Amino acid sequence: MAAITLKNIVKKYGDGFPAVNDVSIDIADGEFVILVGPSGCGKSTLLRMIVGLEDITSGDMMIGDRKVNDLAPRDRNLAMVFQNYALYPHLSVYENIAFPLRLAGAPEKEIDEKVREASKTLELDEHLERKPGNLSGGQRQRVAMGRAIVRQADAFLFDEPLSNLDAKLRGQMRTEIARLQKRLGITTVYVTHDQTEAMTLGDRVAVLKRGLLQQLATPRELYENP
Ligand code: ADP
Ligand code: ADP
Repeated sequence: MAAITLKNIVKKYGDGFPAVNDVSIDIADGEFVILVGPSGCGKSTLLRMIVGLEDITSGDMMIGDRKVNDLAPRDRNLAMVFQNYALYPHLSVYENIAFPLRLAGAPEKEIDEKVREASKTLELDEHLERKPGNLSGGQRQRVAMGRAIVRQADAFLFDEPLSNLDAKLRGQMRTEIARLQKRLGITTVYVTHDQTEAMTLGDRVAVLKRGLLQQLATPRELYENP
């Protein structure tokens, strides 16, 4: 886990108007920050710069006390949780969660301990032999988070993870993500264009408009001073 610091971050595509325009946000260790705003305001661009999938035009980006401006995505130790969860359909829940540890060449005993611990935390311990295709949306989400936990990622990054779900499931998953984030205490950045998600999920909300950070406040402050 680590704090994420964005300092005067600018992103220009070509010579157009900046997609992200001088954005500074201090995200505390363990904090849950929502990036919200209309389509095209720069949310995904900002998230992709944090992950390292997009170059920063100017500004500074820190994860913990490391400056990561020029670090490749795999060297940033962040876990992106995708909309489709990017699980391996032919692998069991156990093997999906174990995957990053196998990739890192961890010994079998360590893999087993970590997978069992994570699956207990995520209440997946009774589903370890199942394949993703036989799981509910909420369970798949938890497997994806399990993979991030065993890696001991510094932060979770979500890009509109609920936008393809129906309203009922979206409500359930919202509750579940908020609960898990608090339980795990892992720094989280969550992109959405959904006002309800923005006002119910996070510790603070960053409102973007045309690349500018318009407001940065708790949901309560935003509610009282929209
Ligand atoms: P959001 O996620 O809030 O919908 P984006 O970050 O996708 O916004 O886009 C912000 C702005 O940057 C938009 O004007 C968009 O058209 C532009 N943009 C995003 N990606 C690219 C790209 N690869 N090349 C050029 N312009 C882009
Ligand atoms: P979102 O709203 O979720 O960001 P978009 O439809 O805006 O999705 O963007 C989808 C993809 O197209 C992104 O990878 C983005 O980088 C790219 N993109 C968006 N706007 C532009 C643009 N003006 N020129 C080139 N690529 C773009």
